[in-house]
Amino acid sequence: MSGTNSLRIKTLFDGSKRKLFVGAHPDDVEMFAGYLVYKTSFNGNVYVAIATDGAPRRQDYYPRGNANNPEEYARIRRQESLSALDFLGVPASNTHFLGYVDQEVVLSLESLIKDMSYLIGDISPDQIFGFAYEGSHPDHDATRIAIDEALKRLNYDDESFEYAACNYYDGTRNLFRFIPRTGFRPVRIHIPVEERSVKDTIFDMFESQKGYLDPIPNNVEAYRVSPPYDFSELPDNRPLFYEIGGIPVTPEEFLNAVAEYFGDKS
Ligand SMILES: [Zn+2]
Repeated sequence: MSGTNSLRIKTLFDGSKRKLFVGAHPDDVEMFAGYLVYKTSFNGNVYVAIATDGAPRRQDYYPRGNANNPEEYARIRRQESLSALDFLGVPASNTHFLGYVDQEVVLSLESLIKDMSYLIGDISPDQIFGFAYEGSHPDHDATRIAIDEALKRLNYDDESFEYAACNYYDGTRNLFRFIPRTGFRPVRIHIPVEERSVKDTIFDMFESQKGYLDPIPNNVEAYRVSPPYDFSELPDNRPLFYEIGGIPVTPEEFLNAVAEYFGDKS
């Protein structure tokens, strides 16, 4: 990353920049960065990559969202995501579903990093947006690792940003607030009243996620330059959001899988 760690709103909204938004699940980019996508997609410069198919493997997870098995559920979620992205101005031809199993991304790091490197090489984005490494969900953290590792492999020196999602910090669950990092000041976008229907509209399109997405407000998004992370450690804000959120992956299992990947590299 060249230059400064301070991010300007003008940089974010620059529609001439080719942007790649990376999410872990079908609905991540839409719900957490949908407004920025909506405002900058007018000239075909926005691309989206979604790491998982949104369907956990475990059969005790079904029936869910009118689906009785992972394949049906993945189909529904893909369709919801395509509809929402289409509404936000991103055509299906700019959308890449990488198809990893929901809740298991960290087990496929090497392969995901290869996919990510290929995508970044192919799309040549000026700006990349992904999750912060702060324990919102193990799949979210794994995509941050994959982005950073891919950028390293490609010697990529353009702009790498983060969109705020959720975390548990200082005794509270937070939405659209990063865990503070010295020198990396976030930019908060306050969505004007007349444009809040953008989020409301896509919210309604994620029929299968009703209940999960309910707490997500329609009036704000936040971004920052992505800081350097030490992936040999967990985010230090314990307990993590996913630890208290009932995700059947423990932070220790996550860290072991990451260590296995980096162990193979050294
Ligand atoms: Zn997600």
